[in-house]
Amino acid sequence: MAGTMKALVKSRREAGLWMEEVPIPEPGINDVLIRVLKTGICGTDLHIYHWDAWAQQTIPVPLVVGHEFVGRVERVGSNVAGFRPGDLVSGEGHLVCGRCRNCMAGRRHLCPHTQGVGVNRPGAFADYLCIPMTNVWGADPHIPLDILACFDPLGNAVHTALSFDVLGEDVLITGAGPIGLMATAVVRHAGARYVVVTDPNPWRLDLARRLGATRTLDPRHGALAEVQNALRMKEGFDVGLEMSGSEAALEDLLANMCHGGRVALLGIPERATPVNWNLIIFNGLTIKGIYGREMYETWYKMTVMIQGGLDISPVITHRFPADAYAEAFAVARSGQAAKVVLTWSEG
Ligand code: NAD
Ligand code: ZN
Repeated sequence: MAGTMKALVKSRREAGLWMEEVPIPEPGINDVLIRVLKTGICGTDLHIYHWDAWAQQTIPVPLVVGHEFVGRVERVGSNVAGFRPGDLVSGEGHLVCGRCRNCMAGRRHLCPHTQGVGVNRPGAFADYLCIPMTNVWGADPHIPLDILACFDPLGNAVHTALSFDVLGEDVLITGAGPIGLMATAVVRHAGARYVVVTDPNPWRLDLARRLGATRTLDPRHGALAEVQNALRMKEGFDVGLEMSGSEAALEDLLANMCHGGRVALLGIPERATPVNWNLIIFNGLTIKGIYGREMYETWYKMTVMIQGGLDISPVITHRFPADAYAEAFAVARSGQAAKVVLTWSEG
């Protein structure tokens, strides 16, 4: 399929993204060419847009960016089984090597050779995306397209939230960004007793309550100890999910866990941060780092939880046509937004 397509490209080593005409990717024998319908804007895309230190070190220029998407199969390589033109699909943005110990053992989310769609190789903010068949997830067409466009970050939320048993437990989530908000709904759905969410952004705390938070806290105006008292909690939080990347939030979270508490860390701090290890040692905390999603158990779980009534739709606060990307990116970084979805084709 020769020809060109519209794509959002990081084409200059400076802040910004540019809508350009680029060649439609040509699928190899194991690849699936996908007509993109909708995409989500992720914090990673904002870093690339702003061309911060991480982006400058990581992104090859020029690059089509974006990795959260839903689309329809346009064409498949000659070796592809299980997908046909017209199928509704989303996809895993981490390409793994397939040969390392973890990959061979089925722990593909722990592959040390991960390549990122829209980070290390051409991405989804385009009319067409080409990825290996092993990265394609057949979507349930009964799930709304906007929600399917968010499966990648929902996967981060689900993988983190389900890392530990939350049934009947008290859960603390620090950070009410799109992922913290989705995790709020997930732990509620999974049977947590109390879900306490912290964020210095009142607009996002309001959303957290809509997604099922028992209590929310602006850490500038109160302490988690007071929230625990108000809820008559005696032991501390059973499960902690760090979803802000903030050093202060991590410190606060560790100090408010019960003895034997379990902590999953998703938020990415900007720099190496000091940690009070004594809290972890004397309180017997378990700490788990999270990267990405499990391939493909997380994809399965998020599908069946949505089929079973999990509702993350309030997290999608804004929708724009792809051509209005400049406005969409401005809204996404405004703080008065959570997930922003771009439409590429009504297909
Ligand atoms: P986001 O930046 O939109 O949300 C972070 C939230 O944390 C913001 O609402 C911010 O106001 C809040 N915050 C800042 N300081 C805080 C504090 N002291 N206490 C509580 N909240 C505070 O990000 P997101 O898209 O929801 O992602 C959440 C985090 O996860 C980010 O750090 C992101 O880089 C990271 N992330 C990690 C992975 C992974 O695989 N490990 C994948 C995606 C995102
Ligand atoms: Zn591997």
